[in-house]
Amino acid sequence: MPIYKDQQIRLFNSLTGKKETFQPIEDGYVGMYVCGPTVYSNVHLGNVRTFMSFDMIFRYLRHLGYKVRYVRNITDAGHLENDADVGEDKITKKARLEQIEPMEVVQRYTVDFHNILNIFNFLPPSIEPTATGHIIEQIELISTIIENGFAYEINGSVYFDVHKFDETNEYGKLSKRKLDDLIHNTRELDGQSDKKNPQDFALWKKAEPEHIMRWPSPWSDGFPGWHLECTAMSTKYLGEQFDIHGGGMDLKFPHHECEIAQNEAAKGKSPVNYWMHANMLELNGQRMSKSTGNTVNPDELLSGNNKFFSKAYAPSVIRFFIAQSSYRSVLDLTDDGLLASEKGFYRLMEGLNILDNIKASEKSTLDINAWKQKCYDAMNDDFNSPILIAHLFEAVKYINQIKEGLASVNEEDLLTLKQTIHIFIFDVLGLENTTKTESGTDKLTGAVDILIKLRQDARANKDFALSDKIRDELADVGIQLKDGKDGTTFSSS
Ligand code: AMP
Ligand code: ZN
Repeated sequence: MPIYKDQQIRLFNSLTGKKETFQPIEDGYVGMYVCGPTVYSNVHLGNVRTFMSFDMIFRYLRHLGYKVRYVRNITDAGHLENDADVGEDKITKKARLEQIEPMEVVQRYTVDFHNILNIFNFLPPSIEPTATGHIIEQIELISTIIENGFAYEINGSVYFDVHKFDETNEYGKLSKRKLDDLIHNTRELDGQSDKKNPQDFALWKKAEPEHIMRWPSPWSDGFPGWHLECTAMSTKYLGEQFDIHGGGMDLKFPHHECEIAQNEAAKGKSPVNYWMHANMLELNGQRMSKSTGNTVNPDELLSGNNKFFSKAYAPSVIRFFIAQSSYRSVLDLTDDGLLASEKGFYRLMEGLNILDNIKASEKSTLDINAWKQKCYDAMNDDFNSPILIAHLFEAVKYINQIKEGLASVNEEDLLTLKQTIHIFIFDVLGLENTTKTESGTDKLTGAVDILIKLRQDARANKDFALSDKIRDELADVGIQLKDGKDGTTFSSS
């Protein structure tokens, strides 16, 4: 019997603002869609946090025995700047700056994204569709929305008629905004746009002559609006209605609100049963964000080569740090926080190592089945990983007491303890058993190896500026890279 039959998840649904009992549309199957990255620059740790939260949720659902179809897209068709309806798209802008093809930008940063996810031990999603691979589906969707009377064409561009939609449906129900307030608070665009109302959003934009990424459509040579791809791809692979839709909190409005409107306008149905939003990662008390430059990239934290942190941290330490707070809380990335997590993480790993050598006795002094259920209860309660980790430490304390002869465990419970601890640490939290060394040499080797790998990827992508930067900056801190026929080695002075 699958484990989910005995474990009842309650999750916080952003749509209703309440914790609800999770009941998939089809028993035993879960459809989950998460908005993926816009691949025009390297992912930062804020992005990683959001994807990590959903990786943990995916892992737990799978562990419970659900057949999960997890769809996470790649946004490669280009959002317009500041997510508005006007201006240059981010991918084209980058392509122009670097004098390369937009698709080279997309390729480079998709590869970077996948490398980072591998370093952090993410499970791949079941489907990773791209926006550019689904232009036909997006055009079909626009045609349907026009036919249903919720969109209009002006000068080759198509806009969603928010006012018309709001007469029969409710625009703003996810973000709890009222159209009247939005009207009041929207600044006029000074004739930059030919929309009927400033609240309307683009479904299709006619491309200016200099715009490189463009596709033919019934309305013009142009490109899709940035909310459309997620509606097209989520419903294509998960059906007109599906279980879970996730993303960062910043996507709730307008992106997810517009997804709901598009789906209701096209199919007459609200697409998602449970909307889940991960909260923001901050750096020095301010949201990590590409546009403000307040970011730390994963490789900078892994190598220790940054101006914020005192040392390098292992990928599992960073994963552990993120899991120590609920996905719904704001999390501030600080050196003190990371140092404390590092200590905790190695304490957990030491506990595991001791557990391998523990011998069973006649009786147990801890109710292991009750402890095991507490671990499930934590995850069942809206994937509360910090509470789960507290229970894992309770087990570490017990393991240490057994070692010191102050507690005991019987054969059957020892097996349950080992299995449960492995399930939650490795399968659910996605941590890897990294061993700490007193000298720090292994850690240095590990960190430099990561940089060597990133440099190889940069070279494979013909990003010689980045590969040289990695080599030169390592040389500045006394680490020399040597390229030989068997690969790259390093020496430190
Ligand atoms: P983007 O590539 O900008 O579309 O972002 C990819 C994902 O990262 C989205 O789900 C965002 O909500 C999320 N994200 C962006 N900044 C942060 C942050 N500081 N903390 C957590 N998630 C973030
Ligand atoms: Zn999306």
